[in-house]
Amino acid sequence: MRLEFAQRYDAQPTAWFRAPGRVDLMGSHTDYNDGFVATMTVNRDTWMAIRPRDDRRVRIASLNLPGTADFSLEAIEHDADVPWTDYVRGAAGVLQDDGAELAGFDGLLHSTVPFGSGLSSSAAIEMATLLAFAAVSSIDLEPLELALLGQRVENEFVGVSCGILDQYTSVLGAAGHALLLDCRSLTSTPVSIAPELAVVICDTRAPRQLAGSEYDDRRAQCEPGAAHMARSNPGIKALRDVSLELFEAHEAELEPVVARRCRFIIEENQRVLDLAQALPGGDRDHLGRLFHDSWVGATQLFEIGAPSMTAMHDAMTGAPGLIARRQAGAGFGGCLVAIVERERVAAFSASVARAYADATGIEPSIFGVEASAGACPVEVG
Ligand code: ADP
Ligand code: MG
Repeated sequence: MRLEFAQRYDAQPTAWFRAPGRVDLMGSHTDYNDGFVATMTVNRDTWMAIRPRDDRRVRIASLNLPGTADFSLEAIEHDADVPWTDYVRGAAGVLQDDGAELAGFDGLLHSTVPFGSGLSSSAAIEMATLLAFAAVSSIDLEPLELALLGQRVENEFVGVSCGILDQYTSVLGAAGHALLLDCRSLTSTPVSIAPELAVVICDTRAPRQLAGSEYDDRRAQCEPGAAHMARSNPGIKALRDVSLELFEAHEAELEPVVARRCRFIIEENQRVLDLAQALPGGDRDHLGRLFHDSWVGATQLFEIGAPSMTAMHDAMTGAPGLIARRQAGAGFGGCLVAIVERERVAAFSASVARAYADATGIEPSIFGVEASAGACPVEVG
């Protein structure tokens, strides 16, 4: 990166920032229902190398994607021709909307997080960029502020109505353990994972479906469920507040599709809490059951999924060392996540890769991940 930076800008970078991707171990679509997620950082990350400028311009390039930007902080606009630069423009935009006096920089990005696979490369680029702006502009930002700003970049500037999960994990995740995240209080507790277990990502590498509109549909279908329950129980603000008993008492009053969505979210929330209890001890049967129920609920009740994800799920069947498998991310394609006996990860990966490639003709990407430190500046010697 140093070489490319020097070639592009004719100078050395002076500061570096890295922000990890993340994966959910349990909790699909629970974040925007004020619920819980078992989430962890992965040791794949986005790096941003910068050199401050003394005018108010930002120049940015990426080793991952073509196109560059050179924009003034006086006028933040979208660039439909190089849409990835909107994450950088948007970071400047939300900081300035909050009254920050920003300085410019020359920057270069590089990421090892796959894009659009559910491992949150977008949160990683947001966190790395926000850290860079904060550093050159001498602004102090708490980790939670960074996460909320990143969510605003996505919601307000890029136009993706995501919850807080991705950004929270990227910045507040910590090495060596998962987090039990409460998306209402925006607090989390560390959860250890039994050391003989490994988390393995199985990326279908198939083109993603129409994720944006489907995602918005699901969000919109959860809201009437919570609103209906709130009529008889005014304390209810979101599906997070609805117990399974209360839901079942009112289930028949809901439109069937709304009822299916709500049941999934309510059960998935409980599975997150159960998983947080199960991960440290590593009870294989319990983990397997929780992941299996999440997959079945996601495909049958929440009706997310994609043929490539089903193919990957099938490819894992009977693979050596497999303990548990489910969808990751929003679930409209991209990755599945598995818990595998650590000493059998290589055999597991080879077996799944072969079975998936035979079935689909696509070479998947299968790799073990470890929880890495949250987003931060890095001293590079
Ligand atoms: P996900 O967050 O699941 O990876 P998104 O669609 O939310 O998928 O975000 C992916 C997009 O983020 C990419 O298509 C690209 O526009 C942008 N992005 C992320 N990292 C980089 C990077 N290092 N360089 C350029 N663009 C990036
Ligand atoms: Mg994203």
